[in-house]
Amino acid sequence: MILIKTDSQIAYMRKANIIVRDTLNLLCEHTKPGVSTYDLNKLAHEYIVSQNAVPSFLNYNGFPASICVSVDAEVVHGIPSKKKILQEGQIVSYDCGAIFNGWHGDAARTFAVGIISPECQQLIDVTEQCFFKGVNSIKAGETRLGDLGSVIQNYAESFGYGVVRELVGHGIGREMHEDPDVPNFGRAGHGMRLSSGMTIAVEPMITMGTEAVDWSSDGWTVKTRDRKPAAHYENTIAILDNGIEILSL
Ligand code: MG
Ligand code: MG
Repeated sequence: MILIKTDSQIAYMRKANIIVRDTLNLLCEHTKPGVSTYDLNKLAHEYIVSQNAVPSFLNYNGFPASICVSVDAEVVHGIPSKKKILQEGQIVSYDCGAIFNGWHGDAARTFAVGIISPECQQLIDVTEQCFFKGVNSIKAGETRLGDLGSVIQNYAESFGYGVVRELVGHGIGREMHEDPDVPNFGRAGHGMRLSSGMTIAVEPMITMGTEAVDWSSDGWTVKTRDRKPAAHYENTIAILDNGIEILSL
């Protein structure tokens, strides 16, 4: 069931998403070689709590941390650890969620650790561009989920990249994951129409090689099957009569 939000509900979601955005900015500032992903998680947790919000990932289906930290071939859902120290040349994806007054925010970014290869930088840039190409194509009441997915997929594939199939974007509101699923692939002209008052998380997960992924033995971490790098870029958006509002920017 798709839940349409009122303006005042979207205002609460805006606050939750601004907290998420600011947490990601803080993580960006602290992303450097030698930092443990445990310390980054602690930083994020303390910031979210200081804003009177709740880190929504903590204990979600048993997830043991407040943010996901995924390095290089890890696509999503990496678990922070004292043993995981960021190294020069890696790329790191942070996925962050917060609940404010019962409403959710959700966003993700991939950053460079020190100096990275031009190939990795392009992957990060194209993943972000996939989001904007997709979202900027949305017209309330006209665009279908397949239209959005195909814009993202076609752009990523024009660089020879893979688009992860097993994980998708989602509706968001009082729950972190609501209907509908929002795939980063699809066929133009197919799927449900996006309409005014819908709030969704659009989150391209783009790989340098194969789109195939594996789940690690920790039960959480998703890695590319060929162990080539992956990037993730996500924002929560509201679809409005007069356009799109990106709530987590
Ligand atoms: Mg997320
Ligand atoms: Mg999400």
